[in-house]
Amino acid sequence: MMLCPWCNQEMEAGFLMSGKPVVFGPEEREAMLWPRKKGEIKLTRQFWTIARTPAWHCAGCKRVVAEYE
Ligand SMILES: [Zn+2]
Repeated sequence: MMLCPWCNQEMEAGFLMSGKPVVFGPEEREAMLWPRKKGEIKLTRQFWTIARTPAWHCAGCKRVVAEYE
């Protein structure tokens, strides 16, 4: 069980999913062209046509926490 780090309510376990890789970065980008920039982390793993990673959702504060690697 995962508790939301903001509101302390129980979070729903699931997956963060996308048709393309999902990247966290310290700065906003206009386009996702490789190579990866400094500080950027690929959060998802590619499984055939879907990119995904385990994640938890809080409906109370509308936030998602994801786990990578
Ligand atoms: Zn919350």
